[in-house]
Amino acid sequence: MRIGIIGAGQLGQMLGFAARAHGHTCFFLDPAARPPAAKVGPVIQAPFDDRVALAVLAEKCDVLTYEFENVPVEALAELGDTVPIYPPLAALRQAQDRLAEKRLFESLDIPVPAYLAIDSAADIDAAIDSVGMPMVIKTRRLGYDGKGQFVLREASQADAAWRQLGPAALIAEQWVPFDYEVSAIGVRGVDGDIRTYCLTHNEHSEGILRVSRAPVENELLTQQANEYVCRMLEHLDYVGVLALELFVVGGTLLANEFAPRVHNSGHWTIEGAETSQFSNHVLTVAGEPPRSTSSRGHAGMLNLIGSIPAAARQLAAGALHDYSKEPRDGRKLGHITAVADTAEDRDRVLGEIAEIVTESNGNRGTGA
Ligand code: AMP
Repeated sequence: MRIGIIGAGQLGQMLGFAARAHGHTCFFLDPAARPPAAKVGPVIQAPFDDRVALAVLAEKCDVLTYEFENVPVEALAELGDTVPIYPPLAALRQAQDRLAEKRLFESLDIPVPAYLAIDSAADIDAAIDSVGMPMVIKTRRLGYDGKGQFVLREASQADAAWRQLGPAALIAEQWVPFDYEVSAIGVRGVDGDIRTYCLTHNEHSEGILRVSRAPVENELLTQQANEYVCRMLEHLDYVGVLALELFVVGGTLLANEFAPRVHNSGHWTIEGAETSQFSNHVLTVAGEPPRSTSSRGHAGMLNLIGSIPAAARQLAAGALHDYSKEPRDGRKLGHITAVADTAEDRDRVLGEIAEIVTESNGNRGTGA
């Protein structure tokens, strides 16, 4: 099958590798000159909302999918029924707006932190009363990796928050004193078959994912989180992979956000699961049922951010994925995955890798 992928970054590249392994061909659309996915298929170089370029991609392909959630929905909607688009645009639309996303969670009885829509400086004062302090104010649209956020610890910072983020549509959220963060990843096929991966533990710093570990050895939390994912997949009549990010607070879960696509916290599945999130996304958008999501052991994934030190290429243990991107501060350039039989061994190996990588990186970058 010919699969059109909107976005040709590292997620597109890994989707492309998976597609090739399953006998499919990928075409990409991306404004960048030499994006990572150019390694695996032709790229139409054009802005994401270029109607003509989207129509050309649709014409070439049997199905379209996307690798990030800031694709203009209206431009895709204009393609109408010319080609199936998975995941469905309703999922993309809701993931693009943090307020719509929260309301979706609530409608499905998925608990969320206290929040309030913010459209004026006065609304921030109202949020200080109703949401409580501390809180975080976020842009409703186009935020990622902690960008477009302001943590409010004192009421006196309200004006500064509005000056920094307004007059865009905003949302105020309770600052959750979480114990840790997890993500639940599920996949659904066209015929409604659903599979879920084991729960993943995520460590962020400065809003960017640094390290993921799977499985989280907590049956109750895993069941609960995967139940939430199943509700979303069914409600949205979803096809493809969906990732739900949650806070764990005192043994309960609060939903933060979801991604209607493959997710950085699922990169470990390439080596650590029987079928990777990339394979399952490609298989399901191509009309096949999802395959086994069982783990192959205890996996750990370390993001390589800002630079890939030479030492990362000479590791005795761990699989290096280099996205072939130009180094830049704060940019995800690659990742390393280690899989072991026990959580202790996984953590030991991951710790050794983090030490080698961080040391040769001048002690910056991985945050592990
Ligand atoms: P986000 O862009 O919403 O995924 O936020 C990036 C990261 O900031 C999250 O993974 C958390 O580590 C942190 N964060 C976001 N929202 C909250 C919140 N309401 N309470 C506590 N931490 C948060």
